[in-house]
Amino acid sequence: MDIRLAEEGRWRFRIDRTDGMRVPGAVLAPRELLPDEPGDKSLEQVANVATLPGIIRASYAMPDIHWGYGFPIGGVAATDPAAGGVISPGGVGFDISCGVRLLTADLDRAALLPRLPELMDRLDPLIPRGLGKGALWHLKGRSELFELLLGGARYAVKRGHGVPRDLERCEDRGAVDDADPSQISERALERGAGQVGSLGSANHFLEVQVVDEVYDKDCARAFGFREGQICVMIHCGSRGLGHQICGDHVRVMDGVMRRYDIHVPDRQLACAPVDSPEGRDYLGAMAAAANFARANRHILADAARGVFKAVTGSGLDLVYDVSHNLAKLETREVDGTRRLLCVHRKGATRALPPGHPDLPDDLAAAGQPVLVPGTMGTASYVMTGVAGNEAFDSCCHGAGRVWSRHRAHREMTGRQLRADMRDAGVAMKPISWRSVIEEAPGAYKDVEAVVVASEHNGLGRVVARLVPLGVLKG
Ligand code: 5GP
Ligand code: MN
Ligand code: MN
Repeated sequence: MDIRLAEEGRWRFRIDRTDGMRVPGAVLAPRELLPDEPGDKSLEQVANVATLPGIIRASYAMPDIHWGYGFPIGGVAATDPAAGGVISPGGVGFDISCGVRLLTADLDRAALLPRLPELMDRLDPLIPRGLGKGALWHLKGRSELFELLLGGARYAVKRGHGVPRDLERCEDRGAVDDADPSQISERALERGAGQVGSLGSANHFLEVQVVDEVYDKDCARAFGFREGQICVMIHCGSRGLGHQICGDHVRVMDGVMRRYDIHVPDRQLACAPVDSPEGRDYLGAMAAAANFARANRHILADAARGVFKAVTGSGLDLVYDVSHNLAKLETREVDGTRRLLCVHRKGATRALPPGHPDLPDDLAAAGQPVLVPGTMGTASYVMTGVAGNEAFDSCCHGAGRVWSRHRAHREMTGRQLRADMRDAGVAMKPISWRSVIEEAPGAYKDVEAVVVASEHNGLGRVVARLVPLGVLKG
């Protein structure tokens, strides 16, 4: 598809409508954050998404946009089911409900540093990660897996893992209600059953961080942290379960699209009307995977909590847990009327503004914490939701990849990365150094530029910068 990119001031670009585009593209990134690897098709993907039936306002790209399956990563699209709006599994991604959980310890940097080696040495063998098997919670058969798929982190608390307060600070209070495990294939259930409480590989991590700088003290206080405080950030999703569900339902939708008279420019955009049996089936399976992902992060956090208590005497309190790969039915005002929309966020974080009814009371004034991991060698950020967000209350979800996996192996060696991390003062525990080459800080955009661009585009406000002290990676 032909891309007509128009600069709209310093911070954003518009993709004008051509061919089948129903709305324009809105690329909320300055020139220096636009994808520029040769062959990168992510801007074309923004235009392709704009052709989806029922899409409203614009096909959005967050500043961390990069190439993904069908939709770009960092893509946001809302469709109107009442106007034939569709749901597309590619608009959620293969790692359904991948997301970030941030916890704080009642400890400052100086108090932790002498204990850090012991802390990392004890977390290292405990936290299952990498492509292989291994999980912290061994479920008793199918019936318990189904309870988890329906109850998410709430079921984990019911079974004695974690504390009820964890649910207050988790998106949807730990679980979504409309999960339908009957729409999950046998193969997906098999893959998920042995993976509750496991990180996975590559970009997923458990990181010990320190709050390096606070830019908004009131928000930081409401979120529950202060400058110098130790944090734990966990990034992972629904493992093989979500992956299999995505593949299964893409296949189904690819087979029925024509029956609904839907034509898309890329088969990876396979979709079905939200109000169709195939659309509802996917949404039910997706919601179950979202519950799995929350329970997964919840269990990993609870394990980290045990180690923290043993080594430092401190507990870990949840700041927030939020997905960045999910579609949700949300009510939004569009052209003066309130409509129920299907909001796809793929590599984009929901960012509710202050006063939103879905926020817990103690976050009502501050807004929703938006958790933005950067890289294992530089920094991560916490932002907050703001009013007037044009992208249906969505914000960036990370720095965003620049190097292809192939390029990473050309640019970096395991030995160099090891030296770089040592120089950066970060205690790394990778499964193997080779396996994390693609995760070198140079493989990503500048996360600071991404959060600044998000702020300029009215997607959120920066609250604090966190820097890594110790990293567990798959
Ligand atoms: P994704 O969900 O798209 O796979 O990754 C989200 C973001 O996580 C990436 O864009 C990147 O900025 C960030 N990230 C990947 N690995 C690490 C890590 O080891 N530590 C931190 N802090 N961030 C990471
Ligand atoms: Mn992710
Ligand atoms: Mn993921």
